[in-house]
Amino acid sequence: MTRRAPRSARRFLLLAPSICAVLAACSPQPREYLFSGPAMGTQYNIKVVAVLSARELQAVDQAIRDVLAALDTKLSNYRPDSELSRFNQDTSCQPFALSPETEQVFRIALRIARESGGAFDITVGPLVDAWGFGPHPAAQPPGDAELAALRERVGYQHLEWAGEHAIRKKRPEIQCDFSALGPGYGVDCIARALEQRGIHRYMAELGGEVLAKGLNAGGVPWRIGIERPVSGEEESIQRTVHLRDMAVATSGDYRNYREVNGVRYSHHIDPATGRPLTHPLASVSVLHPHCAEADAYATTLMVLGPDKGLAFAEAQHLPAYFIVHKEGGFEERATPDFAQYEQAR
Ligand code: FAD
Repeated sequence: MTRRAPRSARRFLLLAPSICAVLAACSPQPREYLFSGPAMGTQYNIKVVAVLSARELQAVDQAIRDVLAALDTKLSNYRPDSELSRFNQDTSCQPFALSPETEQVFRIALRIARESGGAFDITVGPLVDAWGFGPHPAAQPPGDAELAALRERVGYQHLEWAGEHAIRKKRPEIQCDFSALGPGYGVDCIARALEQRGIHRYMAELGGEVLAKGLNAGGVPWRIGIERPVSGEEESIQRTVHLRDMAVATSGDYRNYREVNGVRYSHHIDPATGRPLTHPLASVSVLHPHCAEADAYATTLMVLGPDKGLAFAEAQHLPAYFIVHKEGGFEERATPDFAQYEQAR
């Protein structure tokens, strides 16, 4: 499995040992605990506000690790033995039985692909690799002939449901990539595991995608910073949102990119052209009750760009905040639904 150096968690910054009690307080007052570690080629950080015994603390830590390890065996295209990789390697076009988690990710992904007219498309995997990202990054950008051949291998409409819990490729060469929503889905799964243990106040973050539940240790909604989209500089916060029972995810062009012969390529691919994005959107943050959806919609808006993305977000009533490159700096745009989350409540 490829492991990148963990990308720092965007938006809030608190990296610490795997488990630690952050606030000291007299029992049985709730305390704040932090759980962190590597997952999905990046990093997770989870703050929990609860009353936990030492034994429960270890159990929560283990439950989080178990959830993430199990998802890696299902959703990763970075390991050849995962369920997704087996699906990608299967060229039979026969129904492929799915685990509940993989089925759920496919359902969210295909719904958003349809809603977005294919701007969001999990079959872009071969193009992602060809432009130098993903698990098998090519050294050089593809030429026109290669690009045309690769585009034949892309299109969510080449997938169809085959009964309730199985999916089928209509073309044998179709391959899928869950990177645009897998970390967000991972956050939702961690949230479920915490709720099952009676924990209802937490802030769970994986790869910068965040779900905030209940109130923080100070008894107010969680404050999550949206990062200023500047490469190679100290992380700084552009805006802050106050979240309770809400997720926020950000996609951007400023961390994951490569330069070949002086040309900068984004890891976001426009399925309409088969090429990395060229528009001036620097980052977009989306709020949604579910982190998988927030994550997928953030990529969708990133691909659609500042104008079509804003129109799409408004039509879908998505709280969304756009930072657009302009001469000498940035321009900010937001949907009407976003403003309420900037106010401390
Ligand atoms: P996002 O904006 O959330 O997503 C961008 C990614 O989505 C692109 O990199 C591309 O893969 C894909 N994409 C591009 N264009 C489109 C489009 N039009 N529609 C849909 N998707 C598109 N990374 C590693 O380096 N090593 C690992 O071992 C590793 N393991 C992983 C395991 C799992 C289970 C998952 C889900 C992901 C794993 N990743 C791994 C990937 C990593 O966690 C991130 O998902 C990835 O780097 C993109 O995250 P992002 O937040 O930067 O970008």
